[in-house]
Amino acid sequence: MFVSPLSVCIFGAAFLTLGNCRCQTDSPDAPIPEQWKQTLPQAWDNTVIRSLRESPTRNLTGYAWTLDQVMDGKGTINVCMRWDSNETVTETMREQILAEYTKIYGYWFQWLSGYDNFPFSQVNFNVVGWAVRDQNILQGSLSSFDTYTNFSDESGFPTCNPACAYHNNLDGDYSECPGGPEQRYHQFFFLDQGFWGDHNMGAASGDGIDVSLYGWKTVGSKMDDWPILVHEMGHTFGFLDYLDDGTTNPSVCDNVWIPPNSPSEFVMKPSDYGAHVPKVTEFEGWLLRYFWSRFSRLRGWQNTNTTYPPPPECPSDSS
Ligand SMILES: [Zn+2]
Repeated sequence: MFVSPLSVCIFGAAFLTLGNCRCQTDSPDAPIPEQWKQTLPQAWDNTVIRSLRESPTRNLTGYAWTLDQVMDGKGTINVCMRWDSNETVTETMREQILAEYTKIYGYWFQWLSGYDNFPFSQVNFNVVGWAVRDQNILQGSLSSFDTYTNFSDESGFPTCNPACAYHNNLDGDYSECPGGPEQRYHQFFFLDQGFWGDHNMGAASGDGIDVSLYGWKTVGSKMDDWPILVHEMGHTFGFLDYLDDGTTNPSVCDNVWIPPNSPSEFVMKPSDYGAHVPKVTEFEGWLLRYFWSRFSRLRGWQNTNTTYPPPPECPSDSS
């Protein structure tokens, strides 16, 4: 299995640095491109407004997103792998899943390397746990992570110990987690057979990503681009879907607002056919850079005299 030159290239990329292989970014010293100078602050405002409206407990500035996690982990994001299937998982498969995960996240993170005091030249992903239905599903060496068979989420799917979840312990107290803070997981990656069936679909928020096992088998396991995954990873940074219903002249207060001067297709703009853009576009690279600039000052990760105006007042939703 797994012999094409492309696979070798990609596999190597996952273990070396982010941003090699076939991906391009603008220089980290470049100024914000003129056509997006107005757009990026508007996109921030739109996301703040919509997230408060659509998911108040997971709003942009109040929830813990991937940038919070990479700062908490000092450049390493700990992952709980979840597997909802009776099919066995070999050591090679586990390595492939982590390599693909690292690679696709790299499409986003490479935009931050060297930009506006982002402190990490590369971001690592460390699997601290595997959650499965039965111990026998995992083959090969199990020494580098904890195996969980006794925990399930509200839908009954396997998960890691909730006491070790970063989102459940934002105060930093991991005294209920058997491995302590070293075994905390910032997010999960759930390869899900039961919910999605034979559809190449997924969902995500700051606490993790749920994609179909079918998607892994038919797309991800080829170790190439995985459009659904790069889209869902975008949601873990707090980005929302940009939906175009043909409404003319929406404002940043509207759910259907499309960023001015954005490309006709981009990762976070799923069309009628769903998320299918394979790579982070230049526009979204700058969107992530801008969100870093805002988050890093909002959270106090860096201090400058930069100030930003608050989001605009929007008409009440209750009309
Ligand atoms: Zn989406």
